[in-house]
Amino acid sequence: MLEEDIIVIGAGPCGLSTGLALQENGYEPLFIEKNNVAHSIYRYPSHQTFFSSSDKLEIGGYPFPSIERKPKRHEALVYYRKVAERSKLRIHSYETVKKVSKAETNGFYVVTSTAHDEEKTYHCKNVIVATGYYDNPNMMGVEGENLPHVFHYFKEAHPFFQKNVTIVGGKNSAVDAALALEQAGAHVTVLYRKSEFSSAVKPWILPDFYSLVRQNKIRMVYEAHVEKITSSAVYYRTEGKTYQQEADFVLAMTGYHPDHAFLRKMGVQMEEDTGRPVFSEETMETNVEGIYIAGVIAAGNNANEIFIENGRFHGERIANAIKKRRENGVQS
Ligand code: FAD
Ligand code: NAP
Repeated sequence: MLEEDIIVIGAGPCGLSTGLALQENGYEPLFIEKNNVAHSIYRYPSHQTFFSSSDKLEIGGYPFPSIERKPKRHEALVYYRKVAERSKLRIHSYETVKKVSKAETNGFYVVTSTAHDEEKTYHCKNVIVATGYYDNPNMMGVEGENLPHVFHYFKEAHPFFQKNVTIVGGKNSAVDAALALEQAGAHVTVLYRKSEFSSAVKPWILPDFYSLVRQNKIRMVYEAHVEKITSSAVYYRTEGKTYQQEADFVLAMTGYHPDHAFLRKMGVQMEEDTGRPVFSEETMETNVEGIYIAGVIAAGNNANEIFIENGRFHGERIANAIKKRRENGVQS
């Protein structure tokens, strides 16, 4: 049994900022990260530009200088790596947390598995879950969704040159992907289930998109509900009729959600309708005393409520809560 004080699960930007807040208060948390630091950002589209200016992505007071006002993905990767290095955060990368359970007396057991298939068990006083949502795409639940030409992540436009690509979804990933694909010479159709875009779509990307739609360079279908995908087409229903759209590739930009089962297994309750874990806004402590959440996981299924911009402040609430508890003699 390995003895630890505080374990943070997940070394994304919000997990890291929680570690820095704890460090600031004299604690030395251990991070357990199943990939490497900022892995979700690593998985973004290769040429992604952030919507946020770099100052709004800063953590732990470390400045984030960037070439343009809004940094690119690779600049953020450098930044978060450097912060982890400079602050000497303790990070076990390529180790996955499999299970968290309450210890008989005090604290928690955290069971992990390493890249070499070694199982480890830690005992600790507090657990902070900062596992994000990006590993779990929202499935459409239609026939053909698991075919090999259907993707839930968009990386680069190049492979789609002169190919028919159908994008499903109507928020930022869908619009961004449509713009990149059209520029790379793909024949793009966007199928969106609503009748117009919502305010969640960043307003500065829409003029280019609408212009390409007007020029018939992107085909946009609103109120389109996907029924079935085959190896060469997407069948969708709109205004009571089913249509067929030829598609060599399908990009289901349908969003992502937290791993609900992972949280439930450790006793954290979830609101059924929102997928939001039950927690205190003041302390970020869940309904399980001693287990806290940080980052976008706190928003449940709504990916447009918590970002790095605001999730990076969760750590301060957690550090304050743990400190206060311990000053009052409560250990977990
Ligand atoms: P994540 O960064 O997702 O980190 C979670 C970590 O937990 C991952 O590294 C994962 O490997 C690890 N993990 C998961 N399960 C386990 C396990 N069982 N054991 C161990 N480790 C585990 N936000 C902004 O503020 N501004 C922006 O401009 C912006 N742009 C975005 C662009 C895109 C394309 C996307 C998808 C999101 C964007 N966001 C933006 C939102 C925000 O970047 C991400 O959601 C951010 O990564 C959230 O940080 P996090 O630390 O909460 O979670
Ligand atoms: P998202 O915001 O969750 O949007 C998912 C889209 O898919 C929505 O339009 C949704 O429809 C639709 N959808 C969901 N389930 C569906 C289903 N079963 N069938 C059909 N359509 C479905 O996901 P996202 O666009 O990938 O964005 C995720 C996060 O990344 C957000 O925080 C976003 O701001 C961020 N992001 C940032 C940038 C950037 O900084 N440059 C770029 C891309 C993404 P409804 O609209 O009806 O809900």
